[in-house]
Amino acid sequence: MSKNDKAGNEAGGWRRQTNLVRGGLDRSHFDEISEGMYLTSSYAYESAEQAQRAFKGEEDHYMYSRYGNPSVTMFEDRMKLMEGAEICQSTASGMGAVFASLACMLGSGDRLVASKALFGSCDYVCTVLLPQYGIETVTVASSDLGEWEKALSEPTKAVFLETPSNPMMQMLDIEAIAELAPKAGARLVVDNVFATPIYQKPLALGADIVMYSTTKHIDGQGRTLGGAVLTNDADYFKDHMRMFIRHTGPTLSPFNAWLLTKSLETLELRVREQAAAAAEIADFLGTQGRITEVVFPGLDSHPQYDLVQKQMSGPGTVVVFELDGDQARAFKFMNALRLIDISNNLGDAKSMITHPTTTTHQRVSADERAELGIHENMVRLSVGLEDVEDLKEDIAAALKA
Ligand SMILES: *Cc1c(COP(=O)(O)O)cnc(C)c1O
Repeated sequence: MSKNDKAGNEAGGWRRQTNLVRGGLDRSHFDEISEGMYLTSSYAYESAEQAQRAFKGEEDHYMYSRYGNPSVTMFEDRMKLMEGAEICQSTASGMGAVFASLACMLGSGDRLVASKALFGSCDYVCTVLLPQYGIETVTVASSDLGEWEKALSEPTKAVFLETPSNPMMQMLDIEAIAELAPKAGARLVVDNVFATPIYQKPLALGADIVMYSTTKHIDGQGRTLGGAVLTNDADYFKDHMRMFIRHTGPTLSPFNAWLLTKSLETLELRVREQAAAAAEIADFLGTQGRITEVVFPGLDSHPQYDLVQKQMSGPGTVVVFELDGDQARAFKFMNALRLIDISNNLGDAKSMITHPTTTTHQRVSADERAELGIHENMVRLSVGLEDVEDLKEDIAAALKA
């Protein structure tokens, strides 16, 4: 088998880091080392008969880049190898992945059970948008399995959850909920952005579908939006997802797919480095007098530390903490930072901080924020790849301001 044969990569049985560098590589006749980029919307056929065979599904041939593109395929193949999934469908953004993964299988009269502690736009999709199409959404605020069992005591089509959650790092037991979901007739979809694909494997824990915003750690350098849905459920893909994507068009662009493919080469190195720095900063924050609370999955003070240890192989790269005071205190601290940027993104090489109450969770009512434990003196820090000593100095100086 030649080295530039894609089947060779897949048969190689390589370890994750090797797959992240070489998985899915499909060299052209030019034998380029770096993955080729195919900026094309459409494809030529040798003959009218070949076009007919392609449309009938009798011959594998790219037809149109809304259906498929070689750069997009390379990205999806590399993602599959990373996740241990047979199927990957990329999308133009993380929200494209969330909406497609749910809307493709839900119809009028269906029931969706969703966790309450969700990324703002995910909450909007589940509690506002999908109900407009006649889908009933029931939310569960607690991580208590009894509450999930109750919510899943009626026939349900889909379960959607995020763990750890944004921003409070609430942990949900994927394995236990994956046991409950099929009994209600539901597929379980897990948003794995905060855990990262390096530290949590929802499919191995029994989830049916895992999705990412590749905008976060997978790009990790703040350049593109993208998303991905991964599954081993061939029926889900064949009966729902494939046609939904083809005919509604939330397709990932070949340029972004190429860039994300290259980003995967360094994903594990970046995430490990960022997580180690986040752990160091979480410890450091605990020693700072003006900080009243630190929430990080890697701290044994995390209320669900046992579940973190059972389910995750690392802590992630986001630290949440509270300052001694109100919103004005939090704003003053953020404005005094000289290195860390104020931005609502995360997973980036550049460290950034946001005030969830007034940004990502601004749409959530005060009562619901209270229920979720999101306080106005709380900030969310996404730890990047700068020297951790510089980050600590920046935080210490801003705390004195
Ligand atoms: C960012 C994010 C999304 C949405 O992804 P986009 O790429 O911004 O559309 C969904 N879920 C979580 C947990 C996120 O952090």
